[in-house]
Amino acid sequence: MSAPNKSYDPVEVEALKPEEIERMRDEALAAFAAAGDLDALAHAKVAHTGGTSPLALANREIGALPPQAKAEAGKRVGQARGAVSKALAARQTELEAERDARVLVEEAVDVTLPYDRVQAGARHPLTTLSERIEDVFVAMGYEVAEGPQAEAEWFNFDALNIGPDHPARGEADTFFVAGPDGSADSGVVMRTHTSPVQIRSLLDREPPVYVICPGRVYRTDELDATHTPVFHQVELLAVDEGLTMADLKGTLDHMVQALFGEGMKTRLRPNFFPFTEPSAEMDMVCYVCRGASVGDPDRPCRTCSSEGWIELGGCGMVNPKVLVACGVDPKKYSGFAFGFGIERMLMFRHNVEDMRDMVEGDVRFTRPFGMEI
Ligand SMILES: [Zn+2]
Repeated sequence: MSAPNKSYDPVEVEALKPEEIERMRDEALAAFAAAGDLDALAHAKVAHTGGTSPLALANREIGALPPQAKAEAGKRVGQARGAVSKALAARQTELEAERDARVLVEEAVDVTLPYDRVQAGARHPLTTLSERIEDVFVAMGYEVAEGPQAEAEWFNFDALNIGPDHPARGEADTFFVAGPDGSADSGVVMRTHTSPVQIRSLLDREPPVYVICPGRVYRTDELDATHTPVFHQVELLAVDEGLTMADLKGTLDHMVQALFGEGMKTRLRPNFFPFTEPSAEMDMVCYVCRGASVGDPDRPCRTCSSEGWIELGGCGMVNPKVLVACGVDPKKYSGFAFGFGIERMLMFRHNVEDMRDMVEGDVRFTRPFGMEI
C-alpha cells in the first residue's frame, strides 16, 4: 500500500489507474471463463475477489486519495468489482448445471445390465395358501393335525364308513402299497384324502376336538391340465356337544370372508358322502363378480363361468357311525367336517389354468407369488 497521498494526483497511485483496473477486471473475467470446473472456479474466486486479490488491494488505496479522486477511483473500482462478482456468479451457475447434468449421466443405473447375484428361490404357492388357510382356523382355536401319507386301509376307508364294496376303494382310484412279499393286499394305501387324519385325531383326543388337517393325497389320475395324481387337501373337523349345521355354515362363511374378503357368503347343496350325514356340496359366491354376471350377457365372468357361484368342496355333519368307530358317543357329541382341494382353490384364486404348472417345480411359476399370497 502506498503512503497517504496528500496532493491531488491519483495517477501516482499506480494500482488505481483506469487501465490497471480494467486489466484486473479482464484478468478476473478471463480466469473465471477458463475455470473448467467448480474447483478451478473456487481457486479463481480466491485469486480475484479474495482479500489479497489485485482489486481488493486497489480498493484499499482509495482511502488515501483526496476527496475528488476518491470518488472517481471508488466508482471505477466498484464497477470493476461488480462486473467481477456478476461474472463469477454466472460462471458458478453454469458450472453447477454442467456438474448436475454430468452426475445424471455418470451415476445412472443401467437396469438392463445382467446381474450376478444368487437369485432367491420362492416358496410354493400351494404351501403358502395352505398356511394361510391354517392361520384362519388357528385364529379360531383349531389345532393343525397331520398324519401318515401311506395309511392303513381301515383309517382311509372303513373308519369313514366306506365299506369293502364301495367304488372309491377300487383300483380305479386308489394306489395300493405292495406288502413286503410283493402281495397287493398289504392293507396299506396311499391316502386318498386327508380324512384319516380326522379319525386319528378323534382317537388321540377326548372331545371337544377342533382340528384342521392339511396334507398331500393320492389318486390314480393321469397328470393333465385339471388332474394330478398327487394333490393337496385341507379338511376340518369339529366334534363337540351341540354342534349343528348352523355352526358349520357360520364357520364356512367366516373362512371365505377371511380368504376372499368381506361380504363373501356360501351356500350348501344336498349331496351324499359316506362319512357325513347329512352331506352337502359347498359353494361360495364368486369373489370376482359377486353374482352380478348371472343373466347379464354384457358382463361375462371367466372365474365362475357367469354362474355366480364357485364350487369349493364337500361338507356335512359327521356320520354317527364314524363317531362310534372312534369311540365317541354320538348321543352326547355331534360334529361337522368339510374338505376341499388346495390346487383347485389356487387355480380359481390366481387364474392358474394348467395344474401341471404346479407340479413341475419351475421357479418361474412360483416366484411371482412371492413369499406370501
Ligand atoms: Zn363370477
